[in-house]
Amino acid sequence: MNNSIDQKNMSNKVDIGILEEKSNWLLHPRFFPSKIGGKPAWLNLKDLPKPEEVSCKKCQEPLVFLCQVYAPYEESDDCFHRTLFVFVCRNGGCCGTNTADNFLVMRCQLPRKNDFYSYEPYEECENEKFAMDKWTKLCEICGIKAPSHCSKCKQTYYCSRKHQILDWQKGHKENCPKVSRSSICSDNYFKVTEAAKSLLFREWELIVDEEDEGDDKNVDVNVEMDKLRKLMQEKRAGTLSDISDNELEQYTQTLPEDKVFNKFSKRVARHPDQVLRYERGGCPLWITSNEGSVIHVPKCQYCNEDRQFEFQIMPQLLNFIDVGIDFNSIDWGVLAVYTCRASCNEGPAYKQEFMIKQDLLK
Ligand SMILES: [Zn+2]
Ligand SMILES: [Zn+2]
Ligand SMILES: [Zn+2]
Ligand SMILES: [Zn+2]
Repeated sequence: MNNSIDQKNMSNKVDIGILEEKSNWLLHPRFFPSKIGGKPAWLNLKDLPKPEEVSCKKCQEPLVFLCQVYAPYEESDDCFHRTLFVFVCRNGGCCGTNTADNFLVMRCQLPRKNDFYSYEPYEECENEKFAMDKWTKLCEICGIKAPSHCSKCKQTYYCSRKHQILDWQKGHKENCPKVSRSSICSDNYFKVTEAAKSLLFREWELIVDEEDEGDDKNVDVNVEMDKLRKLMQEKRAGTLSDISDNELEQYTQTLPEDKVFNKFSKRVARHPDQVLRYERGGCPLWITSNEGSVIHVPKCQYCNEDRQFEFQIMPQLLNFIDVGIDFNSIDWGVLAVYTCRASCNEGPAYKQEFMIKQDLLK
């Protein structure tokens, strides 16, 4: 499986993730994908987090799926399948500098023998019968657990009143009387309605592979550094509408002197399109020497084991997802994800993990 992550990287070999377009049936949960956008490809299909657990700590609205990384532990039978899920609030106003309050990271794992998937890998064919909603009803719009349904057709499910209203306005009002009884067991996993289109991030497969260190010879490091610097400045300029020109100028002038940023840019220039860096037990590649953002990582709240760094999401991802104009201020420098070192089985099927968001501004 080319999307599984090689675990030989305990010595500082880093895997990097790049994006590829793929027909979306291959991103179905039964293929254990790593991916960006669309609906979450849940691992455990039954014990999904409740909608209130997948809501923004700041505005309480439902979070939207950002990405998932399939990262089994080869040494542990309990983690034969193991996926980390990242959600984010679409409301740009909830995005604060150097705080990950608008994000949620969850870990789920399964042994090879489990209730949901066959012991042997599935063949890559499109029309295998696999009804997701046999286990749990999923929200028509965002794909998270849906405890309520449309009271008229009784066949369209929603996580929240907000998504029900959005769907009603964007087409369900017309479609509701046409929803037929025969569609009752259809797999709506890849169904993307107008409402979903307005909410979900664009879907991509995430290909994770070893970082090739011999690649730099073909890359003009300075050109790539300039591109990255420009990207970061544009993002910043776009999001900080309340900052004065004077402050912005001050900030952009100090940028080239940031040694950490220079190191970051040089390393990234080997593979300018990387959107993820994976190094279980390793160190994040920070984007700035800004120390205020690097805070204490709490122990696992389920087993009390230390957490360790596992992967980071790169700012380049912002170029690939349609962060429309309304959501202009969703932004980050580096999103570093820390997970339970033991990858424990305690607690719920979907366990919360920890993220540090580092921005270029203090
Ligand atoms: Zn929010
Ligand atoms: Zn929803
Ligand atoms: Zn309806
Ligand atoms: Zn733990």
